[in-house]
Amino acid sequence: MGNVVLNLDMNKIIEMRNYYGKNLLDKNIPGSVFAAKTGGCMVTAYKSGKVLFQGNDSEKEASRWGTASPSSKTSAGITKSAAKGDLPVGISQMSVIGSDEVGTGDFFGPITVVSAYVKKEQIPLLKELGVRDSKDLNDEKIIAIAKVIKDIIPFSLMTLKNEKYNQVQQSGMSQGKMKAILHNQAILNVLDKISPEKPEAILIDQFVQGSTYYQHLKGQKAVAKENVYFSTKAEGIHLAVAAASILARYAFIQYIDKLSDAAGFRIPKGAGAQVDVAAAKLIMSKGRDILPSFVKLHFANTDKANALVNKKRY
Ligand code: MG
Repeated sequence: MGNVVLNLDMNKIIEMRNYYGKNLLDKNIPGSVFAAKTGGCMVTAYKSGKVLFQGNDSEKEASRWGTASPSSKTSAGITKSAAKGDLPVGISQMSVIGSDEVGTGDFFGPITVVSAYVKKEQIPLLKELGVRDSKDLNDEKIIAIAKVIKDIIPFSLMTLKNEKYNQVQQSGMSQGKMKAILHNQAILNVLDKISPEKPEAILIDQFVQGSTYYQHLKGQKAVAKENVYFSTKAEGIHLAVAAASILARYAFIQYIDKLSDAAGFRIPKGAGAQVDVAAAKLIMSKGRDILPSFVKLHFANTDKANALVNKKRY
């Protein structure tokens, strides 16, 4: 039985709390954001950003969320994955396919994954156009930049709509596996688009360890493996990932706009209390059957929205 400790940012921890939805424990551990228990693992996330995984499946469970640095590892046996040191020297200036996703922590809306190819000669132009870490950009900027770069760089967008998401999630597929399949398909599409040209590297914003990524892809017809690298915070390593992230967010924003039109009111992003209220409003106006085409049903927000409807407090 091993323990794994990861240091994660608060966005990730909130994403995790939503992911564990039904597995959350009602325990109030001092300093913690949440505690959850899966079949073989106890997960405790602290306000400090430390997340502790305990139990037989601790390594497997932790690998969904990040990579333990050697110093934060409390038991042996964590497989090595691509730390920044494993990236090719000078990757930032290479011709790279970057891949990133949006929507995994949002109750409303799909998961959007984009892979985008940026040639080294295009890097200065993209910088000029304002492409950088999308976390530093508001929606307005994202939309403006996306509209320009979508015609400049080859990319592929994969959208996992809510109906399909809920279907595969209920069949037992993890979000990690969904993401791996979407990233792989988007990368293959871009490779196809730019062929016979080949990228010098393919950089995926890391959401699981490389070994887990390929495990998820077992059984897929084709898997892009050549020159594939993983890194956390990859948006800051190559503009191709930053561009992919901007395009993925643009697609996500457009989808939320569509959902808002269908709902007849503004659909909020994220997974906070505001989405519970919005979902309750939706149930009241359109009925419960509408929910699977709007939200990620396994999030704890579903129960909270239902509770609001039952109490008529929305
Ligand atoms: Mg990412």
